[in-house]
Amino acid sequence: MSRGKQRKKKNKVYQKRNRMVLFAFILVILLVYIIIQKREDTSYATTTSASIGDIIDVIENEEADVSTYIVYGTHLNLEGSLDITNPEIENAQIVAKKESGEEVSVDTTYEYENGKLSFSTLDKINTGLDLESLDVDNYYMLLKITSSNGQTKYYSLSNDTEYTEDIDYYTLTRNNSNNKIIISFLKQNSVSALALNITKVHKLPDNVYDVVIDPGHGGNDTGAISGKYQEDEIVLENSLELKKKLESLGLKVLITRDGTETDEYDTYNIYDEDGRVTMANESGAKILVSLHMNSNESDLVHGGVEVYAATNMDLSLAKSFANNIVKEANTSYSKMENDKVEDGVYVRTMKVNRNSSTFKGYKGIYDEVPYLFIIREIGGIATGAYVNGSNASYGENIYRNSNVGVEGYLIELGYMNVNSDLRNVLNKGNSYVKAITDSINSYYHIK
Ligand SMILES: [Zn+2]
Repeated sequence: MSRGKQRKKKNKVYQKRNRMVLFAFILVILLVYIIIQKREDTSYATTTSASIGDIIDVIENEEADVSTYIVYGTHLNLEGSLDITNPEIENAQIVAKKESGEEVSVDTTYEYENGKLSFSTLDKINTGLDLESLDVDNYYMLLKITSSNGQTKYYSLSNDTEYTEDIDYYTLTRNNSNNKIIISFLKQNSVSALALNITKVHKLPDNVYDVVIDPGHGGNDTGAISGKYQEDEIVLENSLELKKKLESLGLKVLITRDGTETDEYDTYNIYDEDGRVTMANESGAKILVSLHMNSNESDLVHGGVEVYAATNMDLSLAKSFANNIVKEANTSYSKMENDKVEDGVYVRTMKVNRNSSTFKGYKGIYDEVPYLFIIREIGGIATGAYVNGSNASYGENIYRNSNVGVEGYLIELGYMNVNSDLRNVLNKGNSYVKAITDSINSYYHIK
């Protein structure tokens, strides 16, 4: 054998060994990958509830009573009280505290009177503890009181409400993944706590959605009509496009009707099993956007966009909708002054001219309750949902007492009876849809 041949043979042996090393290497990588996948899968399957023992060290003996706790949209809020004598309070906060000690705090509005400290984070229903911003971990909700000498004390929270079931909250889908947050009151060794147990999941349950789109009217209800154009058809087309756009961000979207609804479908079915209110209430979604075309104010020649939101809201997202639509679709803010909060943003309540205490046969409706049912009846107790079956023609919203609500917005894209406005929506529907999509994307930090 010549040296050349030997080298060739050696090379072949090397090549074979190299291939085997490469193969083994790939095998190891594959195994590691499988193990990691398995681990991620089981990490949420074998969720362990946190034990209160971990926080006992930091809490006082007294407990604060929670009289209300509400998840509206993406935020958790609560109200309650603590029996305490002569506190010198500098600040009272609700904190979500990790076992590691790290905490997220929310300021409360509080009041001290006759040995009782009352506190609330419900100043605005869609701010408070942002459930989207929490880490995968266990948190405890505590009342934190800072006294004027700088000393801090923590009090655990006990459940003084009629709500006893856990709330399963799923964060919005980002990068194909969600966090599941189990919100529950625990009691161990006579210590109470409101705990948040957060794990990662890779798919929302089948019946849980991120966003609900509600194309206004439908079935035998055409909405406003202008010549050959119908409101229900225009908003359906734009709603279907909006669904596509939001899905392209990775969001899971439920639409309340898709154009296949029959003539049986009308505004009085809204609380039926397949009615728009029931669908929204059962969706687990964080936000609902209802699209409409305007028509009421026949004396208006100007037209323009109107975005409606609930009472006691932070209106950043409503403003963003209005501003983006005006910019993208080259339209204008509506000039209508009734119920206007600022340019393009409206809050319509029962207060104005509606004899609200006996509105449509319902008794005891307070003035600040939102007037528009699609905003009010999907928010549960956060928005004062009240439809209880006592008005036979309206049916019953079985979720009216829910402490979990969907954050609702109704957008009047433009006026059917203002020709330039109608043309703009017909010709530039995509720009309206893009504007709404952009607002949701940036407000919720989706992508
Ligand atoms: Zn309408």
